[in-house]
Formats: sequence, structure tokens, C-alpha cells
Amino acid sequence: MAVTESAPAVAPAAQVRNPTDDAADPGGGYEGILRRQSQRESAARTYARSLPIVPVRARGLTIEGADGRRYLDCLSGAGTLALGHNHPVVLEAIRKVLDSGAPLHVLDLATPLKDAFTSELFATLPGELADNARIQFCGPAGTDAVEAALKLVRTATGREGLLAFTGAYHGMTAGALSASGGATDVRVTRLPYPQHYRCPFGVGGDRGAELAARWTENLLDDPKSGVTTPAGMIVEAVQGEGGVIPAPDDWMRRMRRITAERSVPLVVDEVQTGVGRTGAFWAVEHSGVVPDVMVLSKAIGGSLPLAVVVYKSELDAWEPGAHAGTFRGNQLAMAAGTATLAYVRENKLAERAGILGARILGRLQGLAAAHPCVGDVRGRGLMIGVELVDPDAAGPDDLVPPAAPGLALAVQQECLARGLIVELGGRHSAVVRLLPPLTLTDEQATAVLDRFADALAAAERAHTPTTGVSRTTPGPSH
Ligand code: PMP
Repeated sequence: MAVTESAPAVAPAAQVRNPTDDAADPGGGYEGILRRQSQRESAARTYARSLPIVPVRARGLTIEGADGRRYLDCLSGAGTLALGHNHPVVLEAIRKVLDSGAPLHVLDLATPLKDAFTSELFATLPGELADNARIQFCGPAGTDAVEAALKLVRTATGREGLLAFTGAYHGMTAGALSASGGATDVRVTRLPYPQHYRCPFGVGGDRGAELAARWTENLLDDPKSGVTTPAGMIVEAVQGEGGVIPAPDDWMRRMRRITAERSVPLVVDEVQTGVGRTGAFWAVEHSGVVPDVMVLSKAIGGSLPLAVVVYKSELDAWEPGAHAGTFRGNQLAMAAGTATLAYVRENKLAERAGILGARILGRLQGLAAAHPCVGDVRGRGLMIGVELVDPDAAGPDDLVPPAAPGLALAVQQECLARGLIVELGGRHSAVVRLLPPLTLTDEQATAVLDRFADALAAAERAHTPTTGVSRTTPGPSH
């Protein structure tokens, strides 16, 4: 294999063996671990269902399973690992905290580590926001920071409703889930997100984005639309779980104009797009849009849990304790996050992600030309999606073939069999997603693409046409 990076030697069996393991299980007990997981863990478990591996070691792009097999990890903790697994600067930062005797748990008290993290983070923000920003440390999940952002804009505006987009994913707690198309605790008005491939207006491109923007504008200005001026608009500059859909920069600027003219705070969810992932440090930089609020998590913690909201100080009208939480002071995460943010900035990894991502997209587009089951290839930077379809199942009214989630699952499994971990997402779970670390080398990119191409060909050969075709199946497994 062309990968230069090597994982450490196979973990000794004793490190992973469970006393109840069957002595016949030769893989360091991994079969027993998987069996016990399926017996003991919740039916709601997600990645573990389609990725039956037991990671014991990891470095960079490579994960090593308890069975000694190695995998190239293009899931990266659902886009969390900007520097891959166990990057030396991250490990060093964590060790330094451990050796210093600093407290690990401090609620939201001031510490030198938090001070350094805040300074490093603010240095990366769009200037107009950084000069005038406040930060709220949240419970350590993206969804909690989304909750905080919604609370913030509701308090600041005194309004209730929220504008959110079709295909959005903002988390799993009630308010965030409402914004993602789930429960409806928050009154959400759902707006069309511009999509080229499955354009709801059937036109795609600039025209489709223009119509989507017009719909939004009209809804806010029509006194009889049934939508009163909302507390905020929440948007992803590139939808991740929704199927890797980059919003056109013009459309993002239009959303900024529409919200600014109506004094509606614009909340940009950069939980997945942040820290260089899309080819800019923050995805909003592509359009030059300066949001009122940014929701940040995943990569900012350098692989440990951390989530914050940063926002313009004018919005800082909430009361002390308005968004509390016990675990808002994870010192290890702040140190790992500071190291990650600085490394991405100093080594210009956002630019690197842009260049390498374009190259990968090019090769995938070549694959699409050779495989009719690849309906669309899209992405920005190292946030890449390949939508699988069943061309034979297209009906007379279909502008594009229906999504093929069964085939996508087969591709994921064929990838796994070839030592490649990929994510599935998209409205119909038919988008194979690649989220490699920004440290990916050219050789590693080639190895990933070779395995993917091989897996795609194998899945296509084995797949029965029209099996698992979906126009309506549920969305991604997060
Ligand atoms: N926002 C976006 C854009 C996300 O992609 C995610 C997670 N995939 C979340 C919010 C929720 O983050 P978490 O899973 O940490 O709650």
C-alpha cells in the first residue's frame, strides 16, 4: 500500500482481552467485544452498526483494529480530527497539561489554558467579528452550542421563530433537532437550501439558488405568509450530514443581506465545516459573509469534546446562567484545541485542503463518468460526497435518477473490506462521504481513491438494480 504513515505494531492481545473472552477468539478478543456491544448497547447506536471494528491504536489517517487490521480513516470522528488521530502536537499539548498539575475540571472559571484557547480562536475569526466578539463555552457537544445560539438570539431579539433549511443537521437535542427537521419545540420555518443536483425547483445552478433566495425573501416580506420576523436564521455554509452540499457564495451573501436588512441575526453552524475543512479556515470566508453568531465544535477541541458559540457583543443580552452546564471547562480539550488551531493556521492546512480536495474531486468526477451509478460528485475542500443512484429506476418525471441507499451501503462495506472507512449521509443515506484529515498526503489521497474506486466497482457489480432504491428513505445515521 502506498501509505507512508505506519501505525504502531499490533496491540498485544492482553491489552484488549476481556476475561470472559472465548479462548478461540484469536483477534485479541475483538469478536467478543463486538458481540457484547451488540448485546449490551442501545438499539440507537449508529456508526458501530456499519463499521464493526474495534480500534485499539491510531495515528494520523490510520486506525488499527484489535484484529490487527489497518484502516485508512476518512470518517475522522465525523469530521472532528483536523490533524488525524493522535497528532504529535496534540499529544504534546495534552501531556503538558497532565504534567503541570493543572486542574482538569473547572466549570467555567478563568484559567491560563482557556485564556490561550480564546486568544487563538479569536485570532482565526473573520476580523469584523473578532474585534467585537463574545464567547460562551457550552456543554461539550455541537448540539448544546446550537441550543445556546438559539437561546441567545431569542433573548436578544425578543422574538421566537427560527428560519432553518431543508436538509439541515444541527444536532440531536430538542431545539437543535427542531432546526434539523425533527421535533418542533422551536417554531421553525423551513426554507429551501440551494441544491444543484436535486434542485427542488428542477433547475439547479445559479437559477435554482436565485429561486431559493426569492422564496426566503418573499416569505419574510409577505404580510400574509404566516411567518413573523424570526429570532434568527441558522445555516450551514456546506451541509454535511445533509449530503455534502456547498451553498453558492452568492446565495450565502444574499442570506446575509436578507437577514441584515430585517435585523434578523444570522447564525452560521460551522461545527463540521470549521478549522480548514472546506479550504478556508471557516467556511463563511469563501463568501466573505460575517455572521452575527458562529457555532463551533468538533475540530476546535483537537479530538476532545469542546463546543462554543461566538457572537457579536451587541447580542450579549442574556442573563447570568442563561446557558449553564457542568462540563464547560475541559482543560485538556482547550489545550488540544489551541494546539490544533495554531497548527492548522501556521501550516496553512486550509489552503492545502482546498488544493487537495479539488484534486480528489477531479478524480472522483472521472469515476462518475465511468460509472452511471454515480449520480453526483460534490464538495468543498476535504468535505467530499459521492451520491449513488439507480439510473435504471428513473421514472418519466424524474430529472435525476432516484437515490440508491442500498448501493451506498454496499460501497461502504466494500470500502471497509479494503481497509477504508467512509461515512454515509445525505437525505436518502445514499451519499458516501469522505472527511479525511487535513494532514492527508498526496500518496495517502491516492491510496484512498484507489480503494474507493475498487470498492465502487465491486459494489456495482454485486448490486441488483432497483434494490434499495429510495426516493423517501430516512436520512443519515449520525
Ligand atoms: N451541527 C453540525 C453542522 C453537525 O454536523 C453536527 C454533528 N454532525 C452538529 C451540529 C451536532 O454536533 P454534536 O454531534 O457534537 O452534538
